[in-house]
Amino acid sequence: MRRTKILATVGPATKTPDQMIALITAGADGLRLNLAHGSTGDHQAYLRTMHVAARQAAREVAIVADVPGPKLRLGEITNDQIRLVVGDGWSFDSESAPGDGRRVRLELPSFRGAAKAGDPILLGDGSVELRVTSAGPNSIEARVVNGGIVRSRAGAYLPHARLTTGAFDASDRKRAEVALAEGIDFLALSFVRDSVDLVSARRWLDKQPDGKEVGLIAKIERAEALKSIDGILADADGIMIARGDLGIEVALEKLPLEQKDLIGRANAAGRFAIVATQVLLSMVNSPRPTRAEATDVANAVLDGADAIMLSEESTVGHFPVEAIQWLDRIARATESAFDPRRTRELVRAFPSDPTSAPERAVAAAAVTLAEAVHASVIVTPTHTGHTARLIAALRPACPVVALTRRSLVRRRLALVRGVEARPSPTQGKIMELRHQAIELARTEGLAELGPIVLTLGFPVDGRPTNLVTLLDPSEEPPAPKHS
Ligand code: PGA
Ligand code: MN
Repeated sequence: MRRTKILATVGPATKTPDQMIALITAGADGLRLNLAHGSTGDHQAYLRTMHVAARQAAREVAIVADVPGPKLRLGEITNDQIRLVVGDGWSFDSESAPGDGRRVRLELPSFRGAAKAGDPILLGDGSVELRVTSAGPNSIEARVVNGGIVRSRAGAYLPHARLTTGAFDASDRKRAEVALAEGIDFLALSFVRDSVDLVSARRWLDKQPDGKEVGLIAKIERAEALKSIDGILADADGIMIARGDLGIEVALEKLPLEQKDLIGRANAAGRFAIVATQVLLSMVNSPRPTRAEATDVANAVLDGADAIMLSEESTVGHFPVEAIQWLDRIARATESAFDPRRTRELVRAFPSDPTSAPERAVAAAAVTLAEAVHASVIVTPTHTGHTARLIAALRPACPVVALTRRSLVRRRLALVRGVEARPSPTQGKIMELRHQAIELARTEGLAELGPIVLTLGFPVDGRPTNLVTLLDPSEEPPAPKHS
């Protein structure tokens, strides 16, 4: 079993049920829709297809909807793109006419104070750069320093046009409402600043029909978010290290260490960390990744990332399935070398709520036992997914199988490293759970690999997990047949 999870963004190259089924079959554990692009009708069609594909592939994949947040963007451009050449002048204004070789719309709340002569303006992923020559109350004049293709609605970064608005504004809420109506497991918030953004999104979600069970992913892509990361982690289910925008907001040479720091903090806090953007970018046009890309993926696995995300590779690339296959291959080849000691130290040192101390201790006991006996698997019945997450946070050497009757819990565990979630037909009966654990190890081909560690809520399942037991599949008779 691969431990590291794969989150694939769907887009024009992966919009049919068959294309999405191919992503899931190749190993995608979650599908993400970026709501920054397309119309309401497009979003509905994509989300419906995502559900159809998951059903047909018979896999419980996490469905993630990603709202764009207060990102500065250009308006439309004639023919959807333009090539800027070094030395060209280009001006930014608030006119709604499509952009051309002379000017383009910039969606700024106000041009006043947004730029000073000499400021850089970065477009798209930051590879196109201009320098401001003059800035007025209604427009900004600039000259191209690094040329390239600029597309309609490309992101724009101006160091003095600070985003004053919080994440999850009215336009995000409208998009989120549409997504909620189609059914999602996670909402990803772009450009969060601090925990206030998450708390207000949580409050809003809790009031929506079907919003209560939707998890929150905080996209870390603003310099301010790095300063308030511990508060953000407290109020999110997971974070996305959104290297595209983060790589513009912080100096690119600092990005590698920021990534490691963010993964470590997320591990410590028991939240999942997704490494995103330009992961296998060359695979948009090539069936094989570069050496540097393969190494980047392996390093994310060694750093302890829970999941790795594809964007362009699967939205507009020519080799989306191959990209997933490569992630799968690199992760499997690297995971055996992962050293859990540092992660465990972080988890154990993390100051957590004393009321959860018994559950944490039981999780630690399960992992200690599993390693002492070289267990093949830790089976953990779970109602909320909490116990499974606590066990997985310690990164045991063997897989963790979470048994739960609730499909939404199974989908929410889909992005957590090391956890496989399976439906549990039984509830409450310890002997049946024992049989189920053994049957599961047998059907997964794990039974020969070693004993099974099973956690339970004693005397009936549903109690907080308070018992850790060891099963030897070779000594157990087959489970009784239910008639
Ligand atoms: P985006 O987020 O794809 O929504 O921009 C990811 C990133 O910025 O890396
Ligand atoms: Mn982004």
